Amino acid sequence: MAQYLTEHFSLQEMIRSSYATRMGLDNQPTAKQRQNLVRVCETLEQVRDILGGKSIFVSSGLRKGKVNDGQGGAKRSMHKLGLAADLDNLPVGNYEAFLQIAPRVLSRDLPIDQIIGEFFIEDEPRGGWIHIGLARENSTPRHQILRAAKVGGRTRYSLWAEPWALA
Ligand SMILES: [Zn+2]
Repeated sequence: MAQYLTEHFSLQEMIRSSYATRMGLDNQPTAKQRQNLVRVCETLEQVRDILGGKSIFVSSGLRKGKVNDGQGGAKRSMHKLGLAADLDNLPVGNYEAFLQIAPRVLSRDLPIDQIIGEFFIEDEPRGGWIHIGLARENSTPRHQILRAAKVGGRTRYSLWAEPWALA
């Protein structure tokens, strides 16, 4: 039986990791991480509405310590706390979806701490993905918009200002 954290998002899709499965690593949430995932899913429900109410694919949610590090996640990634989700294969295209969500982050309609446009590719709707991170409980979200890109083989995060052009 699928266990739903909110109307459209299941626990399973928020903790699934092919890396953890392959390596036999634990990726079950603690009670606190589960609470965090519920908050993420509540935000994802809002994002889903913004994108027209079609189902959206979460490629990664919780990644506990070893899972995150093994998958090459950032050391201080909010995925470790269950406070982040990556979205991919979005019906309108990943970059296009980002363009629809980002203004709502700026206008503070969404309680998002950081939204990151990760490695978008021009004219390739399935290129890259969107990272959404929430602030810890009792912290105020910064409503930051960032871009991740490879510079000299290393991932660089930078603040991304409107109009969020790819070039
Ligand atoms: Zn992410």
